Amino acid sequence: MNKVVSPESRWAWVEVNLAALRRNTAAFKRQLERGVQMMCVVKADAYGHGAVPCVKTMHAAGASQFAVATVAEGVALREAGIEWPILVLSEPPVDCVRTLVEHDLMPAVYTPEFALALGEAAASADRVARYHLAIDTGMTRIGVRRSDVVELRRTIDFHRGLECAGTFTHFATADLVDDWDFALQLNRFREAVAALRGAGLETGLVHCDNTPGTVLHPECHFDMCRVGIGLYGLHPADATRPRISLEPVMSVRGRVVRVVYPNVGDGVGYGLTWRVPKQNIQVATVPIGYADGLARTLSNKMDVLTGGTRCRQVGNICMDQFMFAADVAGARSYRPARPVEYGDVVTLIGADGDERVTADEMARLRGTINYEVVCDFGMRLEKIYT
Ligand SMILES: *Cc1c(COP(=O)(O)O)cnc(C)c1O
Repeated sequence: MNKVVSPESRWAWVEVNLAALRRNTAAFKRQLERGVQMMCVVKADAYGHGAVPCVKTMHAAGASQFAVATVAEGVALREAGIEWPILVLSEPPVDCVRTLVEHDLMPAVYTPEFALALGEAAASADRVARYHLAIDTGMTRIGVRRSDVVELRRTIDFHRGLECAGTFTHFATADLVDDWDFALQLNRFREAVAALRGAGLETGLVHCDNTPGTVLHPECHFDMCRVGIGLYGLHPADATRPRISLEPVMSVRGRVVRVVYPNVGDGVGYGLTWRVPKQNIQVATVPIGYADGLARTLSNKMDVLTGGTRCRQVGNICMDQFMFAADVAGARSYRPARPVEYGDVVTLIGADGDERVTADEMARLRGTINYEVVCDFGMRLEKIYT
């Protein structure tokens, strides 16, 4: 490993490669026609990568708007001095309306009660609250039902404290090509937008594409794309791989804090679920556990990298630590070039020499998607920006 910076107080960290993030953002920007805006989705602390540095990097690479999942995430960005437009992707509790106005956060809107409360809060502060109308075109998650779109707008549009800055929907199957449900959602969205325009209502920016939509369905970029996972260098589906080249932004690493040669038959970790099968096996401890996002269901299944070699993780993963075995005399693939030592760098996600563990590999072993893997590592580990 070349130059390794590890945090002072704990040998466990997430490395965030901002240069890769910048290149990924620029790669998406190049997929958009002139005039189509890019809204970067930075919910869940930028999918675990740290929202504030990511937002600054994305903006420098051509993004003009940002999206979060919660009011608290939006407020945190404002408090860090971010002044670009921020959309909260669902309608928060009505008690938040003053906070939204105060911090100039645009909520998704789909009920008249919320919309009118937002308008009141804005008007009483002598402001106009901008919002995006969310339409449920078939995912059955959030949004106004497509049959009620015009009626909702007619109920709220009289309010001088409200301005519709956008109209959007979200696809359930944008990662598929030639999918009937996708086509159905897109049709319904087009119809709803046409109905609003036909009724003389302002739609603001029209948007619907997420990462897979942006790459696979350029016919519905409309005024803006909402790109999330791809910015972090991860593909939402195999179908996008040939269409855009991306670099993973996150690596997860720790250092060996203890290493021993246990006796044959010694058990490892809670429940002693792994026992040392032969001599000349090292068992090393790394201070990363399930409270850091390393799912316990990976126990005895995952590999880590050290010295450019794969080693098998052994024993149950603990809350704050895990162990791995180095087969010092064993089969080539799991035998490090030299015995493991105190302080050695261990890679859980990322590259070490010619070997690499991807978030996709870990997701497969966990039975989940790469999104959840990176979000989880964002929870507690210190982040180092490179
Ligand atoms: C999370 C989210 C996105 C981004 O999705 P990716 O697949 O990560 O690109 C876009 N729009 C909405 C409404 C979302 O919730």
